[in-house]
Amino acid sequence: MDNLRHTARNFFAAATLDRASARRLDAAWLQARLDAPQSRVVPVWRQRSLVVLDDEPRAVTLPLDVLDPGRREALVFLGEASGTAFFALGLEGDEAEARALAPAGADYHELRDVGGLLGEDAGSLLAYARAITFWHRRHRHCGECGRPTRSEEGGHLRVCVDGACGAKHFPRTDPAVIVLVTHGEGAASRCLLGRPPGWVPGLYSTLAGFVEPGETLEGAVVREIREEAGVVVDAVTYHSSQPWPFPSSLMLGFTARAVEPTVQLDADEELEDARWFSRDELASALTSGELRLPRRISIAFRLIESWYDADQPGALGALLESLPPR
Ligand SMILES: [Zn+2]
Repeated sequence: MDNLRHTARNFFAAATLDRASARRLDAAWLQARLDAPQSRVVPVWRQRSLVVLDDEPRAVTLPLDVLDPGRREALVFLGEASGTAFFALGLEGDEAEARALAPAGADYHELRDVGGLLGEDAGSLLAYARAITFWHRRHRHCGECGRPTRSEEGGHLRVCVDGACGAKHFPRTDPAVIVLVTHGEGAASRCLLGRPPGWVPGLYSTLAGFVEPGETLEGAVVREIREEAGVVVDAVTYHSSQPWPFPSSLMLGFTARAVEPTVQLDADEELEDARWFSRDELASALTSGELRLPRRISIAFRLIESWYDADQPGALGALLESLPPR
C-alpha cells in the first residue's frame, strides 16, 4: 500500500475539502463566499468543537447571518465542498456568544474525545478549524516587535500592524514523529509499546516525539527511540501522516527496526514502562483486559494495526470487536 492510501485511512485526514488556496488572495472572490447564503461557519470555542451527540452524532455548522457583523473579520476561509464555502471562527473567551450560537441539542466538546463518533469528513473539517483557530489565538501579536497583528488572505496570514516592522506570520504546524518499532520477522515479530506516567492503567502506545529545529525526520525517529527506550533503530521507513490538532501537531508515522531489543528506560522517566509484544501477547493482553490500545482514530492505533494485520487484514479490529466494552 502506498503512503497516500495509508494516510487516506487515517482519521482527520479526509481530502474532501478543496482548500482553494490560490483564491485566498482574491478579495472579491472571498467576499462573494462571505455573502453566499449557503456558506457555513465552523465555530470553535476554547478549542472545543460544536457537535450534537444524539443517536446520530454530527458536527454543527452555522449560517453566516447568525453572526454579529463585526465577527466577519475574524473568519478564516477553510475551503469549499460541493459548492459550499466553510469558514472557521475562534470564539476563545466569549462564552455568552458561544452559547447563543449553539442550536438546541448542540454543545461544545473536545474533538479528541468525540471525533471518532463523527464521520471522517466532519472530523477532518473540525480538526482543520481547531488547528487554524488555535494558530490565530497564539499569533495575535508579532513575534518580531510585539505589536498586534491582523488577519489577511482569508485568515492564512497575519501581518504586523507596525508599518516599520510589517512582519508576515504564516500558519504553522508542529511536526512530531510517531514510530512503530519492531524486532524479528514474520511470526517472531514483536512491536515496542510504551507508556508515560499518568496514563490510564494498562494503556500502551507507540513511541513519539517532536522534531527539533535543525533535525531530519529520520534523525528524530532514531533520537526519540534511543532517548525514551534506549533502543537503537535502523530501517526507518515513512508510513503515513495525520493532522493532530491537540493543539497543533502533524503526526508523521514511521516504522523502524530495532538493531538490538534490550529496553533501557531513560533517567528522566519520560516513559514509566516500555515493552515488546508479539502478536499473541498483544491479543492475550487485550483479551484479559490487562492492555489497552490508543483510540482507534489515532495514527498510533493505525500503526499497531498495520503491523498486527500484516498477514490478516482486519484481524485487530475483529479481535477488539469480540471483546466486551471496557
Ligand atoms: Zn512586528
